[in-house]
Amino acid sequence: MKKVCNFCGNKNFKTRNTQYIYKHGGRLFIVNDVPCEECEYCGEQYFKSSVLKKIENDFQKIQSSRKKPKQEIRVPVENFAELR
Ligand SMILES: [Zn+2]
Repeated sequence: MKKVCNFCGNKNFKTRNTQYIYKHGGRLFIVNDVPCEECEYCGEQYFKSSVLKKIENDFQKIQSSRKKPKQEIRVPVENFAELR
């Protein structure tokens, strides 16, 4: 692989699976064990466009009720200014 990290310029990446959080129109979609290339220096993660397309397609299926997700979770929400 001959690529360079856009953030730190490092050339070493490791392949690993990570959790990807897709956001669209105020909705969240979490996908576990998504393959990515991670910069060994700064930890920035890079995903193949085919991987992202797959996630987007699945989100559309779930949105339009053509598919039921494996699991649904409740997510707590706060505004930072209101935290103490
Ligand atoms: Zn980097």
